[in-house]
Amino acid sequence: MTHESKETIERLDQSLPRRVFFKNVAFLSLLSFSTMPLYAKSSQEQMKYQSKPNNGQACKECMHFEAKKKQCKVVDGTISAEGWCTLYHALQK
Ligand code: SF4
Repeated sequence: MTHESKETIERLDQSLPRRVFFKNVAFLSLLSFSTMPLYAKSSQEQMKYQSKPNNGQACKECMHFEAKKKQCKVVDGTISAEGWCTLYHALQK
């Protein structure tokens, strides 16, 4: 580290107390984390969604299906109970 850069760091250190700096970083981190969705749904195209069953497998028997909302927990958009996609995961019986 050069002498000038060391002086610059020392000057910055004096002008912005560390406690304030870390408080602001922590606040900004929390703010960005709280506004981000925990996960994003995949598109129907990505998961090769189709509105008809596949080999007897259908959304109505998939663990990701939300029947009342006609939605899926992992695939975006309106989902048919008779649909299917590559993320199909059968409900445990
Ligand atoms: S088969 Fe695919 S679209 Fe249908 S509920 Fe399961 S994960 Fe969602």
